[in-house]
Amino acid sequence: MIDYIKHQIKTFTLFELLQGLSVTGKYFFKRKITVQYPEQKTPMSPRFRGHHALRRYENGEERCIACKLCEATCPALAITIESEERADGTRRTTRYDIDMFKCIYCGFCEEACPVDAIVETREFEYHFESREGSVATKEMLLAFGDKHEKQIAKDRAVEAAYR
Ligand code: SF4
Ligand code: SF4
Repeated sequence: MIDYIKHQIKTFTLFELLQGLSVTGKYFFKRKITVQYPEQKTPMSPRFRGHHALRRYENGEERCIACKLCEATCPALAITIESEERADGTRRTTRYDIDMFKCIYCGFCEEACPVDAIVETREFEYHFESREGSVATKEMLLAFGDKHEKQIAKDRAVEAAYR
């Protein structure tokens, strides 16, 4: 009976509605912490693991020496490498694919790379429109590296302090 009376009082005084509105009122004047993405962005760590890139040396030579350590260490089997020896006796990849659907962005590939060739960039705003489109080829990865080299070099310098 007491519970019934309590319920009726709450119903007629709109107690729960007012309780809810009090929470709204409390937060209405507080500092807003909602980020208006994509116009506003939150700070990002130099160790952020986004889209991969293949890097070159300053003279334009690609860093990757086709040692396949990244391929061997990848837990998702996302990397496929084929290679051949060049006329000058050095080895370079003829194919370097990363299946971005398989990738779990663990960073093992960049950790394994002895020449800082494969890296993960800050880029996370990308999408695929087909299953085939999920494969980032060597050409795409090199182009990505060329585009972001300035930021990559800066981040690697900061990151070196943690190694
Ligand atoms: S980040 Fe991890 S899962 Fe993705 S390609 Fe590199 S090693 Fe493989
Ligand atoms: S990206 Fe690095 S680890 Fe992978 S094959 Fe090239 S040199 Fe070796």
